[in-house]
Amino acid sequence: MIGTYILEISYIIASVFFIFGLKMLSHPETARKGNIVAAIGMVLAIVFTIIFHKKDGQSIGNVGFILAALLVGTVIGWVVAKRVKMTAMPQLVSLFNGMGGFCAALISLMEFPHLAHGAATAPVLTGEVLSILIGLFIGSVSFSGSMIAFGKLNGNVGDLRIKWLKYVNIGMLLIIIVFIGFIMSKGDVNPLDIMPLIYILLAMSLFYGVLFVMPIGGADMPVVISLLNSFTGVAAATGGFLYSNQAMLTGGILVGSAGTILTVLMCKAMNRSLLNVVVGVFGGGGASADQVDGSIREISLSDSAVLLSYSQKVVIVPGYGLAVAQAQHLCHELEKLLEEKGAEVRYAIHPVAGRMPGHMNVLLAEADVSYDKLIEMDDINSDLPNTDVVVIIGANDVVNPAAENDPSSPIYGMPIIQAHDAKNIIVMKRGMGKGYAAIENVLFFNEKTRMLFGDAKSTLQKLVAEVKSL
Ligand code: NDP
Repeated sequence: MIGTYILEISYIIASVFFIFGLKMLSHPETARKGNIVAAIGMVLAIVFTIIFHKKDGQSIGNVGFILAALLVGTVIGWVVAKRVKMTAMPQLVSLFNGMGGFCAALISLMEFPHLAHGAATAPVLTGEVLSILIGLFIGSVSFSGSMIAFGKLNGNVGDLRIKWLKYVNIGMLLIIIVFIGFIMSKGDVNPLDIMPLIYILLAMSLFYGVLFVMPIGGADMPVVISLLNSFTGVAAATGGFLYSNQAMLTGGILVGSAGTILTVLMCKAMNRSLLNVVVGVFGGGGASADQVDGSIREISLSDSAVLLSYSQKVVIVPGYGLAVAQAQHLCHELEKLLEEKGAEVRYAIHPVAGRMPGHMNVLLAEADVSYDKLIEMDDINSDLPNTDVVVIIGANDVVNPAAENDPSSPIYGMPIIQAHDAKNIIVMKRGMGKGYAAIENVLFFNEKTRMLFGDAKSTLQKLVAEVKSL
């Protein structure tokens, strides 16, 4: 009995660790510690469960297997996280998210056959069964959806843009809901007799996850990534209900609600409605103006250095290319140099710049860029007309004016950093490559724009040297 109390208290302590960990994750300076705090909570919950959990008076069995699985999982997770390149981080996050959904689905698959608790039959119209079925559905969608998101971020999976797919998606979702109702209407059954229905639900859910993410194109991926994240949390929370496990429930709810808040923020950032996200109907889908009339103008390193050195107000717009080039430290160096010369330098942060929510904040925090220099898109846009130079480093879609003035563009409606309003625009990129949304950018043809071609790291290296020499 005392063991049960200790276990319950350990779950409450673990939950407190999760909450504090999550709070600390909300600021780059405390994020690393926050991760450790949440991990300590998780270790505590696992260790105390192994030691004190009892079911029908029996302690947990197969402890050797559990420890071996923990060891294998820890080693794989450690090695993968250590080895992954910073640029592949978004893919890894998708993979880990998918694994969470997979675990929730496995719990449902394991627990359904044990519903009868040794008796011949069990009723299926219960909260317990509903938790199992919802956990199976949402966990499987999160798993297969995250695998497709992984493929898309990795560049292995393209978008499946078929107009009628949205109707298939809606139909599939309704069929799954009806099917869950059908399983629960079975009355008293031997769970083993209806296992084939559970496998059908698993297959349909996995398929729906694929269908749900496949049509989501280009610039809309951040919304689906955060939504899948919240799905995994909800799926884990259903496991918490099932086992009456407070730590699992709190952990799941925290992930689910954090993911939901992020989804709402991403929807706002992309100007999409949540309904569109759920049925996987995104963007205009029309071909944007792929041919832009006009010519581009280049700028030399020395001219760029002179322009920047004599500017009062400079705004840097970081994008995915900055992360690819790993040029964040040089970017910070340029910022300090220009400040020494008397300029005010700030960063304009678009919520979906890069390849994962908060990517630019994490990247620049790694280079010790002061957090108060990172200005959100909505706050900086009004100040851009007074800005002498906007330096766009490896950003493309997030500054594409087509989002504001080309209704046929797939990114039409997405708020952007209005770099085109600045007095001068310098764009650093390797060539005329397109962004994630695979569309042309008229900003590069704007008469105020000057292109500074080259890999962001080597360009910044040379630019820093030029500015120093002035
Ligand atoms: P983009 O993907 O639009 O553009 C990146 C640009 O960087 C490219 O045009 C490329 O041009 C340039 N580039 C690549 N490598 C280098 C390099 N080494 N040096 C210099 N330039 C380089 O990036 P944005 O950040 O502007 O936009 C993010 C996009 O990704 C949005 O469409 C967003 O919706 C999407 N997305 C965002 C996610 C998120 O959660 N934040 C998740 C999934 C997708 P070039 O080849 O010519 O060098």
